[in-house]
Amino acid sequence: MDIVYRYDPYRPMTARLLENAEAAIDNLRRGHQRYATIVTQVHRELAGDQAPGQVVIPADPLTLGLPPWAGSPPVQTPFALVLGCSDARVPIERIFDQSPNDLFVIRVAGNVLGVECLGSIDYAVSQLAASLKLVVVLGHSTCGAVSAAVDSYLAPKDYASIAFTHALRSLIDRIQVAVRGAATALERVAGAGVTRHPGYRGALVEATVYLNAAITAYDVRREVDRLVAGGPGPRVVHGVFDLVRQRVSARPPAAEADGGPPEPVFADVPDSPDEFAELGTELAQIIADRRLDPTETADRPG
Ligand SMILES: [Zn+2]
Repeated sequence: MDIVYRYDPYRPMTARLLENAEAAIDNLRRGHQRYATIVTQVHRELAGDQAPGQVVIPADPLTLGLPPWAGSPPVQTPFALVLGCSDARVPIERIFDQSPNDLFVIRVAGNVLGVECLGSIDYAVSQLAASLKLVVVLGHSTCGAVSAAVDSYLAPKDYASIAFTHALRSLIDRIQVAVRGAATALERVAGAGVTRHPGYRGALVEATVYLNAAITAYDVRREVDRLVAGGPGPRVVHGVFDLVRQRVSARPPAAEADGGPPEPVFADVPDSPDEFAELGTELAQIIADRRLDPTETADRPG
């Protein structure tokens, strides 16, 4: 399979400044669809179902992230800020098929919000306001930082060995709120005995990944609101990249995921504790339906 960036000097240059958050979301959604098309085609070719093909991506100097004329630096004009995990399997620009200068990216394990991340967000929101329309907090499935936080919650006696250093503890501790919220939601949906289900740990990791992205997005939005002080600021949303499906979506995949309307890529941030509880219940229900078959024995060690 060939992926060709085709440069045409006579092609009109793509406008860099997007009008609003909806246009920014649409740009990311369409880029992610291009990425998904390539992933699907590669899988088909590997399986021998499809002859090798070619994907042509039209390019101009601006979409390649280059200055239009040699000898001058490009002006920084990202349309979205993405706070994502450092995980090597989640290359942010690639999964949204975006060019250099499109995204202002902050990557830290577990996509947690430390003070240095807040500093980067402050900079982007205040200095790049002319182009920045959207802030995305992006979690991903089977996140190592989230898994460590879940394991330290499930086995507190192992906490010291899981979070041996101050630096690791600061990562894992920041995720504990999401772990506890996800655990409470799973028990609410599937009963207190759910903790003995063999699929419980996997379900708790998955629910925590989605809730952690939402909680971090809530904290980011408070910071953005403080910075713009009532003025127009970028919209804050959250989503999760599923490593198995190679898709970003606002909610976990349902047990019967095929055939429905396209899934929303991002969700808006909950506004109140009640909305967070509702979100937790919704996530827990979708995940329990797929992972926690009540007929499976609950007494096998998980
Ligand atoms: Zn991760």
